[in-house]
Amino acid sequence: MLPSQVPAEILLRCRDILGTDIRSVQPVSGGDINQAFRLEAPTGSFFLKTNTGPQAGRMFGTEAAGLGLLASAGALRTPAVLGFGETPQGAFLLLEFIETGFRPPVFWEKFGTGLAHLHRSSAEKFGLGHDNFIGSLPQSNSQHDTWASFYIHERLLPQLDLAKQSNRLQSADFQDFEILFKKLPDLCPAEPPALTHGDLWSGNFLCSTAGQPVLIDPAVSYAHREMDLAMSRLFGGFERPFYRSYEAAWPLAPGFEQRLPVYQLYYLLVHVNLFGGGYVGSVRSALGQLI
Ligand code: ADP
Repeated sequence: MLPSQVPAEILLRCRDILGTDIRSVQPVSGGDINQAFRLEAPTGSFFLKTNTGPQAGRMFGTEAAGLGLLASAGALRTPAVLGFGETPQGAFLLLEFIETGFRPPVFWEKFGTGLAHLHRSSAEKFGLGHDNFIGSLPQSNSQHDTWASFYIHERLLPQLDLAKQSNRLQSADFQDFEILFKKLPDLCPAEPPALTHGDLWSGNFLCSTAGQPVLIDPAVSYAHREMDLAMSRLFGGFERPFYRSYEAAWPLAPGFEQRLPVYQLYYLLVHVNLFGGGYVGSVRSALGQLI
């Protein structure tokens, strides 16, 4: 029996998927939600996430689908999905292990250009064929013809409902959101639905030993491409060459700085619902800039 915290049933499933024995298991730190491990096998290293929560099987299934969709765009690297599933001892997601290295000077340029390329992948409607998750929260992806309708009904309102249930926002806040909803169709430029990573903060990409950006932990949908840029700016922002090369590949419509709080509101509401009332002030300040 291997000394590890990975349930035996999950290790057996991984062994079957990989078709080889697993020689060692080491915990990997850094995840918010799941337990993560590095598996060593004669054929290489693998990354395993496990979780025993009731929705974990669906979370890993939609994460695998999201990684697959991002990979199919051929724009930025993602870890290969080797398998996922549920066992009586919990759910798991088995991925290619990405060895990480230092970011070379061209890293951010490659990343910005690659993201613009990813965003060129389009669909007829905003949304996705299935719902998924952002962090541990469900994310609804019912399809809409317009960005405003999608953003209000599938992004802001579900988070506002959660905040209402936990009494984290007050009735004046909900009234302010109603004002924003009326203005939304005129606030964002009309653009085609773009395949977005959906949760693009600094914890959700890696730099491979070859210096390539690698996307992890997505919350994909066909959304407004400015969502990814706004999320990247929520906590300090990425390096300048990232934004320069993005804009060189696909310029943003004028006025993005003024629209930034529109998109950040979704992520701030997610933070209110995941981490508590400390983010309510940021929600109010973003809203105050828009209404
Ligand atoms: P969680 O879903 O719990 O947020 P993450 O997907 O963020 O977990 O993974 C936890 C940590 O493991 C990350 O911070 C990252 O450094 C590392 N990691 C994620 N995916 C891989 C991978 N495929 N290969 C190597 N390391 C990874």
